[in-house]
Amino acid sequence: MSRINLTDLISEKVKNLKAYQVEDVKEGIKLHANENPYPTSPEFTKIILDYLKNLDLNRYPDPDCKNLKKAISNIIKSPTNQLIIGNGSDELIQNLMQVFCDEGDTVAFPDPTFAMYYIIAKGMGLKVETYPLNNEWDFNAKQLLKHLHSNKARLVFISYPNNPTGNCFSRKEIQELIESYQGIVVLDEAYYDFSGLTFLDQMQDHNNLVILRSLSKIGLAGLRVGYGIFPRELVDEINKVRMPYNSNSISQIAAAELLKNFSLVQNQIDSIKNERDRLLKELSKMKSITAFPSDSNFILFKVANNGEKLFYDLMENGVLIRNLGSHPMLNNCLRVTIGTKYENDQFLELLTQASQ
Ligand SMILES: *Cc1c(COP(=O)(O)O)cnc(C)c1O
Repeated sequence: MSRINLTDLISEKVKNLKAYQVEDVKEGIKLHANENPYPTSPEFTKIILDYLKNLDLNRYPDPDCKNLKKAISNIIKSPTNQLIIGNGSDELIQNLMQVFCDEGDTVAFPDPTFAMYYIIAKGMGLKVETYPLNNEWDFNAKQLLKHLHSNKARLVFISYPNNPTGNCFSRKEIQELIESYQGIVVLDEAYYDFSGLTFLDQMQDHNNLVILRSLSKIGLAGLRVGYGIFPRELVDEINKVRMPYNSNSISQIAAAELLKNFSLVQNQIDSIKNERDRLLKELSKMKSITAFPSDSNFILFKVANNGEKLFYDLMENGVLIRNLGSHPMLNNCLRVTIGTKYENDQFLELLTQASQ
């Protein structure tokens, strides 16, 4: 029997980390993870099941994801040789850090933003420099550039729209950042389908721009599919660190089919956007709540006091949202994902009760 001191063996950089935590409820209304609230349609399930019958699961998946890349290319009009598929776009964030950073190098991002940039960087022994967003949840490119330069940041991550604030940063500031930064700008467009705003057309003119997209927010969160559009000369470098079979056969097929049958998803996206506008209007009527405008499928809002209590009250009544109050700039702030009309009504009703 072995009894060695395992704690002593854990690397310093990992010892001090905390694992990414998400609350979960078995039953009830899940408005905490920015997923698509509509269940997989029977038509789509049937397409996948038909494929499954002929699938050789004893074989490795296509390491180049050729069919999926073709389906993506048909929609976004970027050539397939600029695309890389990730097991979720989270994986591509890690691959980018692996390609551009040695241990001790610096990555940067505005704050508050998507927590995984920090978690992935720290897990790899990188330094993190954050840059506080202003009152409008926006940034000034000149100041950010100075910050990036003085800290020798090799990569800057821009969530566009920004999670958890929900807004898209000013185009002008991002444009200036892309044009003047001597490092890589990673534009994380995970919520592109809800904003309709992209910098994809800038890729021709700038070889320091990478764009990330995800299928997690539009219906395939369970299958982990993200993709990146890279400058041609970077693709080979990413492929050196990417695991050869990172995207599994079922995910590749389902993602390609989802994209080929996009009208189904588009209807859902349209409903979510309508519900978002309705929810925002309703929240703005509530005196004790400040709701922030959103270009995404979630809304950030601030309550006058005791956000944590509201979070637990909602949870006890079967509605799970996200409590962001532990972040110093997000005191009493909560984030709610746009659900179905029914789910949003439940949420609004509980909120009205709670604020009375
Ligand atoms: C959800 C999210 C992602 C990650 O998505 P996956 O493709 O599921 O890994 C990336 N960036 C932001 C800003 C997100 O909110």
